[in-house]
Amino acid sequence: AARLGTGQGAVAIALKGVSKVFGSGADAFKAVDDVSVDIRQNEFFTLLGPSGCGKTTLLRLIAGFEHPTSGEIRLKGKDISPLPPFDRPVNTVFQSYALFPHMTVAQNIAFGLEMLRRPKSEVQETVDRMLKLVRMEQLANRRTSQISGGQQQRVALARALAPQPEVLLLDEPLSALDYKLRKEMQIELKRLQSETGITFIFVTHDQEEALTMSDRIAVMSEGNILQIGSPREIYDHPAQRFVADFIGESNFLKAEVVRPLDPGAEIRLPSGATLTAGVPEGMRPAGSVTVVVRPEHARVVADPAAGALRGRLTNIVYFGTDTHYHVELPQDGEFIVRMQNQRGSEASFETGDEVGIEIGDGAPQVLKD
Ligand code: ATP
Repeated sequence: AARLGTGQGAVAIALKGVSKVFGSGADAFKAVDDVSVDIRQNEFFTLLGPSGCGKTTLLRLIAGFEHPTSGEIRLKGKDISPLPPFDRPVNTVFQSYALFPHMTVAQNIAFGLEMLRRPKSEVQETVDRMLKLVRMEQLANRRTSQISGGQQQRVALARALAPQPEVLLLDEPLSALDYKLRKEMQIELKRLQSETGITFIFVTHDQEEALTMSDRIAVMSEGNILQIGSPREIYDHPAQRFVADFIGESNFLKAEVVRPLDPGAEIRLPSGATLTAGVPEGMRPAGSVTVVVRPEHARVVADPAAGALRGRLTNIVYFGTDTHYHVELPQDGEFIVRMQNQRGSEASFETGDEVGIEIGDGAPQVLKD
């Protein structure tokens, strides 16, 4: 597979051609399929994908709970394959937190350090620092069975950060929290990462969580990494249909490539309209392609002849900050436009209207395959 995610910055974790097969013979199942990626030091890196795509398995391989069937895992250039989990400078925060309920908050945080036989004074000093870091000083002597879910999450984080690992692995750590707390903890996690400078590798199936927190995202499907990029790159320039579909809302259209541009390409829609489009890195599109247009990158206009597309308004859905317009196109099915609501400029569209859809130059993105 192509080597993805190489770039500036020192590399913390390098995966080279890593595969993991569970079972054997007819029951063999490839959970991770030839994955190569460089995760940089001090990076908030997210593995994003649907249930069963191999995210957790990849994390467990890095932690050392599983061994790769083939390939190599390096930490700062050193092969860590022979090291058992407890000898790796890597720690994990699990979805279940796995705290000791009969111990206090402080005792939970101290536990790993005591296992490492760190001197008492150092343990005390680190526990105090960690309590402060996660803002739990007031509850240091409370048993973890007597604190809230959000507070337990903070303790689990503090416990994992206390031995100062090079890399912190986080497996859906916020999924047990309610919506509001989850939003708070997202900001909190981001703060913890930048304050400690530790490399975070975060696993989630929640696209919004991935977009708001990550420096870079790897989108996974069926054991493969399909695309790696910043949240903005992944959202604005999805390279494949799966990525466009999984993250955000998408309109897919058929198009013909008229000519390559540098960068991008000129495309023609079935309506005859020509537009400039983005093109995935390394792709030389020609002939028939599929493009994606995000709903907020298009506008509904009253004159059906004015836009790049024309169609019939079938549904108007008001969302407070914006309105969604569902337009039935003659060839391409439904196209959804999202427009912000502005005071004093209430649009006067009605269901059944023939309308035009304006699409900005550069808004369509050509997809691979
Ligand atoms: P989820 O979000 O549901 O946790 P995931 O993306 O983390 O999903 P994994 O847990 O990595 O997915 O699992 C990937 C695939 O490998 C799944 O199909 C799973 O059934 C399979 N798998 C995982 N562990 C084992 C195992 N020990 N033995 C056999 N198959 C396994």
